[in-house]
Formats: sequence, structure tokens, C-alpha cells
Amino acid sequence: MTSAPKTARFMDGTALAREITERTAARAKALTERTGKAPCLATVLVGEDPASVTYVKMKRNRCAKAGIESRHVELPADITTEELVATLTGLSEDPDVHGILLQHPVGEHIDERAAFEAIAPEKDVDGVTMASFAAMGFGLPGFASCTPGGIMRLLDAYDVDPTGKRAVVVGRSAILGKPVGLLLLGRNATVTYCHSRTTDLSEVVREADILVAAVGRPEFIRGEDIKEGAVVIDAGYNPGNVGDVHFASAAERASLITPVPGGVGPMTIAVLLEQTVDAAERLTA
Ligand code: NAP
Repeated sequence: MTSAPKTARFMDGTALAREITERTAARAKALTERTGKAPCLATVLVGEDPASVTYVKMKRNRCAKAGIESRHVELPADITTEELVATLTGLSEDPDVHGILLQHPVGEHIDERAAFEAIAPEKDVDGVTMASFAAMGFGLPGFASCTPGGIMRLLDAYDVDPTGKRAVVVGRSAILGKPVGLLLLGRNATVTYCHSRTTDLSEVVREADILVAAVGRPEFIRGEDIKEGAVVIDAGYNPGNVGDVHFASAAERASLITPVPGGVGPMTIAVLLEQTVDAAERLTA
């Protein structure tokens, strides 16, 4: 007798992001009525990389729909680190700006860390400063990196409690892999990181009750490596709307899985907007 093929439930990031953004918009409206000023996100773009231009445009459109003002600063690709730091310091000191987003990457010749550190932690709504990273590590109040923050919101919305679970994060970038592992650890998961030097990656992935794929390689994780019943979060976004997980084969083994697009992606912007209003509320309290 053959058993019927199982199919995972989708984790609908589009719907959850919409709900979060509706609540954010209501808070933005209330704040605007109370203070006479809308929450304001400064977006800083260096150069004209088409993907970055598109991302910033998308974030600004979403801001507008949620009643958040955005102040856009475009800088030439050949700007120096000192000039970029000066711009970000100015925005950090500007009382009309509540959140700052530096779109990255910013160009090889720029010291990206120095630029991020010029963002005041209380305006770091994209969660890129060392202060925000430390807050995530210590479990203290602060702004989460937006994609990891969005992943945790998805897990909560689908009643996935990380406590006691084996979580495997494939990828260790500063904006995604590392912080999501810290957040999972903070919620009592037993966390393993994998990266390009990991040996026997398939073996490690097979142990995951919660798998986060953050590799940047299309369909890198295959269904045969997924534990029966695992929760699969695909943070990857590769050309052609393809994730880091081979969706069809993974969906046969997982209990819950994020689609690409429509899973993690929309959550990133929803968290950015929500954290902008958090910042504005605190700065105008
Ligand atoms: P990244 O900075 O390039 O980091 C990729 C990570 O994957 C690195 O830690 C790297 O290991 C690891 N890796 C690469 N090849 C590997 C291999 N063969 N085996 C095991 N590990 C390997 O990328 P990222 O910025 O974290 O982004 C990852 C993915 O998420 C991309 O598809 C990106 O588009 C997507 N993303 C989506 C959102 C969203 O809003 N949905 C936001 C950010 C990123 P090493 O450290 O050893 O090099």
C-alpha cells in the first residue's frame, strides 16, 4: 500500500506582511495626528545599481501607502567613505528623520561598516549597526535586522515555538544568517550554522526541525535532505524568483514551508516599516 503524498502548508508572508502593515499604518496615522508630523524614513542610495534602485523604490512606495514619509538621498557611486559618513551623521542628528536605511551593497571602495556605524542606533530601523546586532545577541530591546525579524514573525504566526528544536541556518552573513541564528537561540532553539566551509552539509541539514536557507544559490537545498515534518524557511531570492530551496521536493517532506516569492520577502519590508514607526513613537514620546 502506498501512502498519499504529503504536502507542506505554505507560510503566507504576503498575507502576514499585509496585516502587519495595516497595523503599522494605523499607528503612523495616530502619531501624525498627535504630533502633526508623519514618521519619516530616510533612504540613502549610493550609485545606480538597478537592483538597489528597485529595492529602494519599492520600500518608498510601501512607506507612502502606510502613511510614512520618506526622504530620499541619492549619492554618486564615487562618493568617499567620509562623505557618506557625513551624510548619515547629518540624518542621525536631524530631528525630522526617525529611521535611516542605507541600501547596500555600497561599493567596494567604501568602508561599509564605518557607514553603518554612522547611523544612530535609535534610528537604525534596518538593524545594521553593531549596537543592534549586540541587542539581538543579548536579547535586549533594539531593532532586529529586518529579514531575520520577519522570519521570527512568520514562525510566531504559524505557532512554531523554537524551544528545544534543532535549528539549522545555512549561511552566516551579517544581515541574515548570523542574526537569525541569534534570534532562534534567544528563543531556546539549539542552533547550528552552516557555511561554505561546512563539511557534510547534507547530514547537518537532515537534523533540522527548523531550517533557514540563506545561501544565495538557487535550489541549493534539496527535498531529500529535509527531515520529515521540518519547518522550512527559504530566505533566498535568486534571479527568476527562485529560492535557495528546491520547493517541489522540499514541500513533500516539510510540514510548513515559505514560498518564493511571497514568503520571507514581503516580511522584510513589513518589519522595516513597523520598526520605523517604533522609532518615530520613541523619538517623539
Ligand atoms: P551572502 O552574504 O552572499 O551570504 C551567503 C552565505 O551562504 C555565506 O555565509 C556563505 O558562506 C554561504 N554559502 C555560500 N555557498 C555555500 C555553500 N556551497 N555551502 C554552504 N554555505 C554556502 O548572502 P545574504 O546576503 O545572506 O543572502 C542570502 C540569500 O538571501 C540571497 O539569495 C539573498 O538574495 C537573499 N536575501 C533575501 C532577503 C529578503 O528580503 N527576502 C534579504 C536579504 C537576503 P561563507 O560565509 O563561508 O562565504
